[in-house]
Amino acid sequence: MVAVLKHGTTKEQTELLINWLKNQNVDVNVSEGHEYTVLGLVGNTRNIDVDLLASLDMVESVKVVSEPFKKCNRKFHPDDTVVTLANGTQIGGGSFCMIAGPCSVETHDQIILVAERVKAAGANVLRGGAFKPRTSPYDFQGLKAEGLELLMEAKKVTGLPLISEIMNINHLDMFEDVDIIQVGARNMQNFELLKELGRTHHPILLKRGLANTMKELLMSAEYIMSGGNENVILCERGIRTFETYTRNTLDISAVPMLHDLSHLPVIVDPSHASGIAKLVRPCALAAAACGADGLMIEVHNDPIHALCDGAQSLTPDQYDEVAATVRKVLAAVAQ
Ligand code: PEP
Ligand code: MN
Repeated sequence: MVAVLKHGTTKEQTELLINWLKNQNVDVNVSEGHEYTVLGLVGNTRNIDVDLLASLDMVESVKVVSEPFKKCNRKFHPDDTVVTLANGTQIGGGSFCMIAGPCSVETHDQIILVAERVKAAGANVLRGGAFKPRTSPYDFQGLKAEGLELLMEAKKVTGLPLISEIMNINHLDMFEDVDIIQVGARNMQNFELLKELGRTHHPILLKRGLANTMKELLMSAEYIMSGGNENVILCERGIRTFETYTRNTLDISAVPMLHDLSHLPVIVDPSHASGIAKLVRPCALAAAACGADGLMIEVHNDPIHALCDGAQSLTPDQYDEVAATVRKVLAAVAQ
């Protein structure tokens, strides 16, 4: 349930109302937007007398939120959420975030070279997997702790904030200096992992599962947010359909739909969505044109010899061109 307060409601009046609601055993989420203050009520709202609430002088309107996701619901929080990283980089609310880097961290020289090149191309976050979720146990599983250390070095050299995937909550300590913790598609419904991440204040990039609906993605975001961590970024990375020519099917309509349903930023990963390097550019441009808050693109200095996902990785030269064209698309749609 949400209660929209009238213009001119004082802080004292708002606090009285919040206390009255809390005494009825509901949690109150306060969102002070540009236009209105919105009180989002979560928990057992059955005891709330809707007619009484709506009749109060300070209340503009009361709406029952039928969706099962509350904290990530735009009805609770009409303005876009902006996730701010430790260095001040903002994600959401109109700033476009360019995340780029290799699927996996492989060597010192590889990650430094790619980090420098993507930074020069305008990327503002460096990606690199250290713990890799691979379909086969015989495939490269990532450099693990050493991979994270190499990422830290790349951060030191370039100043770029980092994103890397966590697979096991026992590794959380190792991720202290990783600016955004990624929850991969395969872990989108690892609810115990989500609950633990909800107890941190770390920015979390939550990828949509291979066969999950938008509602399920939002319910997973809700797991993190209901624990107290509101720094959640959603990521559309393609879903599994009957199509076999592409690795996944980029659900481009998820971008405006998720923006409609939720205030959280939405990033698109055209690399995993298509699985084919030459499709990354058109999918990235489509994402930029339809309002995504950023892109996460795999870039490798030597894709043919990459230990993971070489077929979908751009070279640094290709990334230069894609990043420049994305900026043109953004400028064109902003007009
Ligand atoms: C990744 O980003 O490296 C990755 C494994 O992606 P996904 O979880 O979307 O498959
Ligand atoms: Mn990958």
